[in-house]
Amino acid sequence: MEIKNTNAKEIWKENFIDVYNQPEFVIERGNGSKVYDVEGNEYIDFTSGYGVSSLGYGDEDIKKALKNQIDEILHTSNLFFNKPMLKTGAKLVEVSEMSKVYFCNSGTEANETAFKIARKYSSEKYGNNRGVIISLSESFHGRTMMSLMATGIEKYHAYFYPLPEGFRHVAINDIEGFKSAVDISVCAVILESVQGEGGVNPLDKSYVDEVVDICRKNDIAIIFDEVQAGIGRTGKLFGYQNLGVKPDIVTTAKGLSAGIPVGAVLVSDKYSKVLSIGDQGTTFGANPLAMVSAEVVIGKIESPGFYDEVNKKGAYIKKFIGKLNSDKIVDIRGVGLFIGIEVSGRADEIQKKARDKGLLILTAGHNDVVRFLPPLTITYDEIDEALEILKGCF
Ligand SMILES: *Cc1c(COP(=O)(O)O)cnc(C)c1O
Repeated sequence: MEIKNTNAKEIWKENFIDVYNQPEFVIERGNGSKVYDVEGNEYIDFTSGYGVSSLGYGDEDIKKALKNQIDEILHTSNLFFNKPMLKTGAKLVEVSEMSKVYFCNSGTEANETAFKIARKYSSEKYGNNRGVIISLSESFHGRTMMSLMATGIEKYHAYFYPLPEGFRHVAINDIEGFKSAVDISVCAVILESVQGEGGVNPLDKSYVDEVVDICRKNDIAIIFDEVQAGIGRTGKLFGYQNLGVKPDIVTTAKGLSAGIPVGAVLVSDKYSKVLSIGDQGTTFGANPLAMVSAEVVIGKIESPGFYDEVNKKGAYIKKFIGKLNSDKIVDIRGVGLFIGIEVSGRADEIQKKARDKGLLILTAGHNDVVRFLPPLTITYDEIDEALEILKGCF
């Protein structure tokens, strides 16, 4: 079967459960921060596949690490140790300054694991009636059932009854709302340092300080979902570091292995012995390909000057957008290379305009935010090309 831009939609509609809405072209390859479709059209990628392709496309060190590992072994499962798992796990624990790590395969799975840790800790210490998890409205934590319930974007909950119990949603940066949700049944709160799907909404430091205070006093676990904001995206390893917090549990995924599926849960010392043998597991966790790839990513983003560059590039993009002085732009926000532009019209119309000119961007919120998640390694030339296109879109 020959795959063309023109027959993609038809093949999709005939064979696939239709849960996505892709534009009508087929990506064939990538290079730097650009991707190319099967007809050779070029697109600058300000999506990185939801922030996954953190090092862009064709990174030589990623390719080398993966090729070497392919010659060694592809899979050992959790029955056995493998070398990349031990090296990368130890490295991630070291750079994150957390106590222990658990590897899985996706963001939602990492969050499910975080909830299990918080609930087990609570039920061992306080009994079985203290399992409520607080999250924020407009939050996004994944699509499996517990993560789905933690997700505050209500439209995703419809139809899937009965829904798991024990989740409460409160408004972002509203400390009174948070206080009124806390009672003796609460075991954890989960926060994104910058909400991604919800509209690129950063947390206020003063809000987080108060939440942390309340959680410490009540022995409530503080979970940071860094699936989108983590791994250098905000100019730090994790976004919560910009807020000066030390979480109990951190989940991460997307950018960690630069394109190989992965998820990770990091815990503080206090939560490091909650799960024991048999309590959690996954067949593909700590897969050698994901692990060698993550090792390269961690090495690169933790190298001197890398985070500064992320912040500089982010500021450069924001400054340019600000100078456009477009009356369509309501707000410019975000941290590092995690950027949201709230618009007065429909974000998906701007997205389409940009795509027609060769720039891929994301939307967020209630179709009122244009979101940029370019590769962290994007060059200024690539940024300039993208900004030139954006100029005509606002
Ligand atoms: C994408 C995302 C998830 C879910 O990750 P998957 O790998 O798609 O399961 C969870 N939390 C946040 C903040 C995300 O952006």
